[in-house]
This record gives sequence, C-alpha cells and structure tokens, in this order.
Amino acid sequence: MNGIGIVFNIDDLGGGFYGSKAWRIFMRNLPPENIIGCMLKEGDTQQTLNGSQREFCIAVFGLALEDAVVRKVFENCSEKGLAPAARRFISSPGSELLVDAGFIDLLGRLVQDEWSRMFHDRCKDCGWGFAPKSVTVDLTPELKAELENLRGKTVPLAAQEAAKKRAEELERKQKEAERKRREEEEKRRAEEQKRRQAEEARRKAEDERRARVQAARKSSGQCMMCGQSLGFVLRLLGKDRHGRCTSFKE
Ligand SMILES: [Zn+2]
Repeated sequence: MNGIGIVFNIDDLGGGFYGSKAWRIFMRNLPPENIIGCMLKEGDTQQTLNGSQREFCIAVFGLALEDAVVRKVFENCSEKGLAPAARRFISSPGSELLVDAGFIDLLGRLVQDEWSRMFHDRCKDCGWGFAPKSVTVDLTPELKAELENLRGKTVPLAAQEAAKKRAEELERKQKEAERKRREEEEKRRAEEQKRRQAEEARRKAEDERRARVQAARKSSGQCMMCGQSLGFVLRLLGKDRHGRCTSFKE
C-alpha cells in the first residue's frame, strides 16, 4: 500500500504533548480532502525508539493515496516542529512501529474508534470533520453540540466525487490486472499441459521405435540390446541378448 510519513522534531515541538502539537501542524496544513479513504498512523520513529533521534511521525496510507500531494504540502511548510527538509519524509512508513490513528471516510471526516478530547479539539481547531465510532464518556452539552457540528463537517461535494472516482478507477485497474494475471496463469497452465503431452507422445514414439528395432534384431539373430550378432551357441541356447548387455544401444 502507498504510504508517506511526515516527520516532526520532538524538541522543536516543545517536548511534552508533542504528539498533539504534531497533529495540529499536520491537520492545519493538510486539508482532509487530499487523503480521503486513507488510514492514519502515528508514533515515535524507529530511530527515536533506538535513541539516535528525537522524532515523531504521522503517516498516511492508502491504495489511492496521492503521496506527491501530501509531500508538496509539507515540503512548502515552514512551521516550527517539522523535521528539517532532509529528514522530513519517510517514503516507506510501513516499516515504522506506528499505531493506528483512524482513517478519513468518504465524506472527508476523521473516523476513530473512540471519541477523545484531543482529536475533538484538533479537528475543531483545524476545520476537519470528526466522526468517532463511539463516545464512552459523558460529554457536556457544549461538547455534544460541538461534536454534532464536527460530524456534519464534510469536505466539498466535488472533492468527495473526485475521491470516489479515483477509488473506482483504482478498483477497475486492480480488477483488470487480476483478470490479466488469471489469463496468463491459464495460458501458462495450458502450455505446460501441451508440453507434457508432447513429451509423453515423444516417449511413446521412442518406445515403439525401440520395440520395432528389438523385434527386428531378434528375428535376425542379433542381440536385442547392442545389435551385434549373438553367435551360434547363444542362439542355440535360445538367448536373445548377450549376458553383459543391459542397456539398449542404437
Ligand atoms: Zn549385446
């Protein structure tokens, strides 16, 4: 699956609650319509876990992800907290030990399993829609109203349509590739069978030819294996081959 990781410098984020600060930069700069249908993950980078860096990563994954668009947004971003240009992107974030942070649904809203104050506030700050699957805490009437608002905050219809079209196109291409793969497999199997049948026919013809040669040798008093004359004594004994001849020679 396509993916791109945006890397943040933990010290430049100002330490404590750095994850929340990284998300604010991420969400403030990247309109969700650019990553519809994509999954989000977050976490300290591998090198940070090893102790050689102090970096945090937010990664986007998706079959239809246009990673160049995401890259461009953050290439041109000068907000403090992003890692320096040379370390800002991880192009294969699948190998990082990141944890799930939800996905962007087809309406362009951030979907997470559970409501959290952190993402509620980040979405509100940054103009993202927020549609948690469950709310396990009692929300104040004010937060409840805000959440309803966030649930209704969808990206423009044109962006939804474009994302849907892209997903459909991708699905069509995948099906086409799968069909081609199956056809080729079928063809390969047919060729293999043909090859096996030809081999079988060749062996059978060989056996028949050999049987004919042996029958001819036998009737003319020759060794069935080497084709040389058997000699009077062996013929008298009713032998059809030399004792030492065990493999057929032309
Ligand atoms: Zn012989």
